[in-house]
Amino acid sequence: MSKPELSVPFVDLHAQYLSIKNEIDDAIAAVIRSSSFIRGPYVERFEDQFAAAIGIRHCVSCANGTDSLYIAMRALGLKAGDEVIAPARSWISTTETISQAGGSVVFCDTDADTYTIDPKQIESKITARTVGIIPVHLYGQPADMDAIMAIADRHSLWVLEDCAQAHLAHYKGRTVGTIGNVASFSFYPGKNLGAMGDAGAIVTNDTVLAERMAMFARHGGLTKGEHHIEGINSRLDGLQAAILSVKLPHLADWTRRRQVIADEYRRLLSNVNDVVLPTVAEGRRHVYHLFVIQHPQRDGLARHLATRGVQSGVHYPVSLPFLQAYQHLTHTAEDFPNAYAHQARILSLPLYPEMSAAQIECVVKAITSFQTNG
Ligand SMILES: *Cc1c(COP(=O)(O)O)cnc(C)c1O
Repeated sequence: MSKPELSVPFVDLHAQYLSIKNEIDDAIAAVIRSSSFIRGPYVERFEDQFAAAIGIRHCVSCANGTDSLYIAMRALGLKAGDEVIAPARSWISTTETISQAGGSVVFCDTDADTYTIDPKQIESKITARTVGIIPVHLYGQPADMDAIMAIADRHSLWVLEDCAQAHLAHYKGRTVGTIGNVASFSFYPGKNLGAMGDAGAIVTNDTVLAERMAMFARHGGLTKGEHHIEGINSRLDGLQAAILSVKLPHLADWTRRRQVIADEYRRLLSNVNDVVLPTVAEGRRHVYHLFVIQHPQRDGLARHLATRGVQSGVHYPVSLPFLQAYQHLTHTAEDFPNAYAHQARILSLPLYPEMSAAQIECVVKAITSFQTNG
């Protein structure tokens, strides 16, 4: 077989850096000049800017998108025996933090089409010990928030939105992160808004909760020398904050670019046998952190793409209830049929704002050639 002339990486963070190199380099130099490494003006400015971008009152920055979930649940007062309902499909941060905050994980299956938590199945999981629900806007598509909020209201539960993959996604005109009681964001480098290292934030309109979260993340005190409670050390650093402030104004354009690429994939792959394209439910604005297709020969297709120079990924190969970490819950495939079926069929195609038309075409040709061979 001849060598592919064009390779398509799964993401290309360096391409994004080159597109804003001067701004980034200047921002980093400014932080170094002022030695504002921890807290300080760059962190405060990014918190204000991010809150404004989401359209919410408070943003509490922290070290990463896993800490943000943990901090939110500690501030919500999670305690031993409390149960939290979470989707069977997500990154493990969503549920490991429930356990670490002292609660118990209760999994709910995901919807067959959108991969987000299936609200029709939530109520059957609620017990006298249930305190909250964590919808995950997986791959960049909002979960069905109206149905989830109605259930939460009926049972007096809090809702913590995991927005790690869904910066600027909308649900019926509302930006995700503003719908539940509190929301968690990750700025891991590969996320739609990514730092050059670890970073995260929690947002809320609840002033009391915001103060409690900030206090817990900063050793239990907001003023020097005072510690009202025992907390943790989870901080966004000045360099990451300055980098994020440079990137934030570009996020709307990058998001549109993701949507254009997704539309292009849809157009070019719509008649390809065996390829199931992502479904976008009514009233939702998908921001395509990932473009996830399904294919009955997923592993064969991924290998074929690799030989054609196209990187792909599987997010995630084992659904949460079936991980070794949750073996003690003794779940079986029948408990979460959608999550179980999807894990063997899903494949994430390359998608990042800087992708060229030739690269999109290269991915499409690689997929269609598998059809003819396979
Ligand atoms: C990335 C991610 C997280 C965790 O973010 P980190 O910044 O890597 O700690 C949490 N939840 C979901 C759904 C994620 O994709």
